Amino acid sequence: MTDITRIAVPNKGRLSEPSVDLLRAAGLVLETSSRALSVPVRNMPVEVLFVRAEDIPELVHDDVVQFGITGLDLVAESVADTTVVQELGFGRCKLTAAVDESSTVFSIDGFSGLRVATSHPLTVNRFFSEKGIDITTIPLRGSVEVAPKLDIADAIVDLVSSGSTMMINSLRPIATVLESQAALITAGDRASSPLTTMIRSVVAATRKRYVMMNVQKESIAEIERIIPGADSPTVISLAHHGMYAMHSVVDADEMWRVLPALEAAGASAILVLPIEQMIP
Ligand code: AMP
Repeated sequence: MTDITRIAVPNKGRLSEPSVDLLRAAGLVLETSSRALSVPVRNMPVEVLFVRAEDIPELVHDDVVQFGITGLDLVAESVADTTVVQELGFGRCKLTAAVDESSTVFSIDGFSGLRVATSHPLTVNRFFSEKGIDITTIPLRGSVEVAPKLDIADAIVDLVSSGSTMMINSLRPIATVLESQAALITAGDRASSPLTTMIRSVVAATRKRYVMMNVQKESIAEIERIIPGADSPTVISLAHHGMYAMHSVVDADEMWRVLPALEAAGASAILVLPIEQMIP
């Protein structure tokens, strides 16, 4: 019998849908309409568990699942010892220390003696004690941002992505305690498996494009300069005399610079394709 690899993903919240999208992009065929706790994968020896994002580090540590997808903030906040296999590039946010706009505190040193409301007490205590700043944490599950207005706390440390919640609640950001994003985690040294290879290949390909074009022989050197890429580009001789096809992988963020330059350098029939999976 084949061993089943289990992976836990968040069952609700911001990380849930992008996690399932990632697994699907990695080739897993799973039925999630029922959102049962456990969903078998039809085409691979993998089982997906849908659980609370904050429980995932513990489940990974206890070997209930071999892998998990959750936020780095929750990994930091958990006492479970886990290893980050791969940062996944979604669910980006910052754990931000902030005070009410009316406060006289303008620096992190000014937090000394304050009551700090937070949903991440372990991380906050670690951050301030490393700096030798004495604070009292007020652990709250939610609505951390209203704590100063209710006089439950003098300051907060909360997750922020755009910063609009802070603005709406008249809070002044002071410092970043932790930068977070979703990550694939495991325990011990189980960092490589067919499942992690599939997931890493999708993440590596996300911000890449495959560029193909036709060029005159004389333009090859100039085009190589325009598309430095990771490796040297593929150059294939075409049936028409003096014409070549060039292929290369280009960062998606570079395309705005690369495409007009290729056109100006005389490239024609330029095709830009998404890449589904890539092992660099
Ligand atoms: P939630 O969607 O509130 O269940 O949050 C689950 C996880 O989503 C958090 O632990 C973070 O890792 C991540 N996240 C990303 N952006 C934000 C944000 N603006 N506020 C809260 N959590 C966020």
